[in-house]
This record gives sequence, C-alpha cells and structure tokens, in this order.
Amino acid sequence: MASKRDYYEILGVPKGSSADEIKKAYRQLALKFHPDRNPDDKAAEEKFKELGEAYDVLGDADKKAAYDRYGHAAFSAGAGGGRAASHDPFDIFRDVFGGAGGGGGAGSIFEEFFGGGGGGRGQARPGKARGSDLRYDLEISLEEAAQGVEKQVELERAVGCETCTSTGAAKGGSAKTCPTCGGVGQVIASRGFFQVQQACPDCSGTGQIISNPCSDCRGQGRVEKSTRIKLRIPAGIGEGSRLRSSGNGDAGFRGGPAGDLYVVIHIKKHEVFEREDNDLFCEIPVSYGKATLGGELMVPTMEGKASLKVPAGTQSGTVFRLRGKGMPVLNRGIKGDLLVTIQVEVPTNLNAEQKEKLKAFADSCGDQNTPMSEGFFEKAKRFFS
Ligand SMILES: [Zn+2]
Ligand SMILES: [Zn+2]
Repeated sequence: MASKRDYYEILGVPKGSSADEIKKAYRQLALKFHPDRNPDDKAAEEKFKELGEAYDVLGDADKKAAYDRYGHAAFSAGAGGGRAASHDPFDIFRDVFGGAGGGGGAGSIFEEFFGGGGGGRGQARPGKARGSDLRYDLEISLEEAAQGVEKQVELERAVGCETCTSTGAAKGGSAKTCPTCGGVGQVIASRGFFQVQQACPDCSGTGQIISNPCSDCRGQGRVEKSTRIKLRIPAGIGEGSRLRSSGNGDAGFRGGPAGDLYVVIHIKKHEVFEREDNDLFCEIPVSYGKATLGGELMVPTMEGKASLKVPAGTQSGTVFRLRGKGMPVLNRGIKGDLLVTIQVEVPTNLNAEQKEKLKAFADSCGDQNTPMSEGFFEKAKRFFS
C-alpha cells in the first residue's frame, strides 16, 4: 500500500527544492492525473494517490525534514505494517461528520486546492450556483485529540435569506426567464477565430431576471450571518487534519446547493508529552537512589497515572515503552505507545552527613561498579594508543 518510491522522484523535483517549487510541481502533476480528468483510469488514480502521499510529506516542513533525514523509515511507525492513518492523504478528507455530502473525497481536494470553491461547480446550471467552501482553523488540546471532542465553532457564512425564502424576489416580484440567454445563463461571444462561452451579462449567469429583488439579500437569495456549527472531532486526530462538514459552507446563490466547511485541526503543544504519529514521548526525572536501587515510578498518561517498575541500575537515557498508552489510532480502536525516557537526577545541596555517607560510598566503590565508564575507557584507551 505505502509507496516506496522516492517522494522527490514522484514529484519530479530535485532534493533541496523550495516549498514553492514543490507546491508548483505537485499542482501541475495533480492536475494532470486528477481522477476527474482521467475517469476509470486506474493508473492515473494510483499516480494521483502517490502524488498526494508525496506532497503530504514534502509539502509539510516538519515531515519533509524527517523524510530528508530518515527517508521512508520516518513514517513507517504505524501498527500492522501499514502507514499511520493520519498520513494517508485520502483519509483526512473522509467525511467524518457522516454527512451524505455530494462530491467524493478526491474531488473536494481538487476544488479546494485549485480554488474552484468560489461557486465554480454548478455554474453551468443556471440559477443554481453552489456556495463557496469555507475553511475554519480550530485549535484543540492534545487531551481533546486523544479522547475526541465535540466543539462548537462560530463563523460568518452565507445562509438562505428567510425574507424571500432564498428566491431573491421580493413579495410580488417574480423571476422571469432572461430574454438575453433564454434561461441558459451562458452566451456565446465571438473573439476572432474563437467562440467563447461566457456568463450572460444580463442575468449574471443565473438564467433568470428578477423584476423586484428582495431588499434584504439584494436578489442574492442568501445573507451573511454568524452561525454556530457543532463539530465532532474523532479521537486520534492529527495536526493539520482536515475535516469536512458537508453543506456547512456558504449557501448557494438563490437556493443553490451549499458549499462545504473544512475544519483544519491544530493541536496545542503539550507541557509533558510530545507526539509523533500515534506514539507519545515524555521524559521523567528519577532520583539517584531509585535509579540505583530500583523501585516504582509514577508515570503520567492520557488516562491518568500509571505505574512503571524501574529495575535496579537504570541508567539515565533508558527508554521504557508502555504499550497502548499512546494516542488512539484514528477509526481503528487501537492505541500507540508511550515512550518514557529516564533522566537520573544528580542530588544537589547535600548536608554534611549526606556528603560524608556518599563519600564513604564512593570510596567503597573505588574504580569498580561503574558500568558505563568501563566500556567508555576501553574505547578511549584504543583511541589514544
Ligand atoms: Zn431575500
Ligand atoms: Zn441571461
């Protein structure tokens, strides 16, 4: 499933290309291989997916840096050999709101990426121009990302005009077929050798003329209004994921279909945990005594405290893996791991008695019982001789 081809090769750009060059290359190739332009062409579809995957990484400064250093291995941490869900360019466009929504996932990326949102789709059908897609950036905490959360967002968007019930006509006014274009909404204009189809200038492409436009919406059939929208954020969502809320974009022109709302998720930096895909990382200080003698350690997790047995003689930098204590994997009912790095603390501000005891302890050890030094000085000796 996961592509093993070099991402730079897929996008046809040399390593070290700028973000702009990468974006440009992706745009051009994505246009060429987009499913809308290559219906029923499996090879093009594969190519398009591959492009999405490559751009998902190279188009993101952090992921690109990781890829430059580690190659594909940087993203192969997902369970079961597959890639982590959040890296699949198609996954993030899945309609997690469960809306029946018109367009397929891939089509939506296309429109958003290439700016077709401005009422482009459906323009050909007069009077039914679709509303624009909207974007909303939402910041959530890591805890919310771990548990999933319901959020209400407030945004300005076009909604249907109640005064005229989205018809655009005032009381007594009515919509008549535009005589210029005969209701088609398009006229053919000649430009030299070419015949160009363009929106009818008399009805602005709607195919209808309103004799007495509604004053509230000025004949648009929609008005700007602040609206609250409830969103369900699924557990395991990743930074930069886009969720689509079908029909919650701008209302269409005079009752045309509404656009979609895209919510881009940002996750706040956490005080304790770092996240990498589905795994969490944290550093925990351990007292010198406990690291030496062994003991029980309290570890914070997303679901409260867990206990970790630290064996006697644990060195600073030792990593313990707590399976299933990481982030949930989107839509899969499993979880990543928590990786705890031990930091042994050197005690400070000893009192006289403590100093004396520690000195006695050090004397009793002499050059013995220094497990890391032995290996180190062995190597150093070879180096100097
Ligand atoms: Zn109105
Ligand atoms: Zn017209």
